[in-house]
Amino acid sequence: MIRPNPSPEVYELARCLGIESTDPAVGIVVHCRQLADRWVSEIGGVGPSGIQNIAAFESLITRKLSMVVEEIYAEDDFDRITNHYARGKSEYVFAGLRARFDDLENPAFGVLIQRNLALADDPDQFVAVVDCREDPSSEKYARRYFTKWHEIAHRMTTHRFPTDPAYRGEDDPIETLVDAVASELGFYEPFLGPELERALANENWLTFEMIQSIIEGVFPDASFQSTLFACMRLLPTPMVYMELADEPLRIQKILPNAAAYVHWKGLDAATCVDRVLCDREREDSVGRSTRICCGELVHRDSIFYRVASGNLLYDQIEHHLCDFAPPESDTYLGRFPSEQNISQAIMRPSHNHRGVLAHLQARRVPGKVIALLQY
Ligand SMILES: [Zn+2]
Repeated sequence: MIRPNPSPEVYELARCLGIESTDPAVGIVVHCRQLADRWVSEIGGVGPSGIQNIAAFESLITRKLSMVVEEIYAEDDFDRITNHYARGKSEYVFAGLRARFDDLENPAFGVLIQRNLALADDPDQFVAVVDCREDPSSEKYARRYFTKWHEIAHRMTTHRFPTDPAYRGEDDPIETLVDAVASELGFYEPFLGPELERALANENWLTFEMIQSIIEGVFPDASFQSTLFACMRLLPTPMVYMELADEPLRIQKILPNAAAYVHWKGLDAATCVDRVLCDREREDSVGRSTRICCGELVHRDSIFYRVASGNLLYDQIEHHLCDFAPPESDTYLGRFPSEQNISQAIMRPSHNHRGVLAHLQARRVPGKVIALLQY
């Protein structure tokens, strides 16, 4: 996820990394991507004679960073890691890991440890430990792929030089930035781009089925949500991810991609009136519109409710109108937020805007309904 207007911590990190950019968050993501590109091209690029798949890409990146990834699938793995690092290499911090992963208040999903006693040419100077255990009360198993890339992204940014890493909460601007780097690398575009194009074929919209085929095709360990968000980042057309919950259904979360965000923020008043006028004529012939706003109730006769219940096929929603309320937070799924159009859009006030729905899919998952909206 991208948030415009980087924080002082992000500026400081960019400075430490020697990155000069008017937008340090963008500068850092681009810097990490270029570093990865350079390493890939050094050994023959992406393809049959070089890096063949995402697993080979991960091996290359971690090797270059002198780091290894340890995954915990079962309780025995804690003993294995303790034996190897605490008993074998006198790195005692590894003996206390279980407590950090099982902490009731704030359980860790992954940790990155810099070994104190490592030698300069040791391949395991940094060790990322990732909790991959299946537990109904947490999403650790589903998120294991993204957690791993999050720790690799830390190594490329906050843990680039010997430091004293601070604990950071989930909403910390540095954590958000590290997630952006993780998505850029974990869904490396030379693999994602062609696969997304293949999945889309001649369609103009992205479906649940296409996401699943992209996972199976190139990112076998990735979660549905992180793959979906990575695809939305690349998609040039407006797309909005929504979560709905409770009974009656209420919209809980709205996350636009960059193209939708620009529409939201960037339409000037004249364009807006124009569109509303011609849409209004269309509305008379096709029925109601839906207000897309956090906290908004979704009634039983709404298309969202009916699509989620399987009572309505998604190709029946053609020409339904959506009124997007101004987003309550400046967060969107983008890759490089300083793309000219977006920075201009951010300067302008946001307001309601209306889109003609081109595609809607909704699905019930435990505890909520997720919906993909394209217009
Ligand atoms: Zn982190």
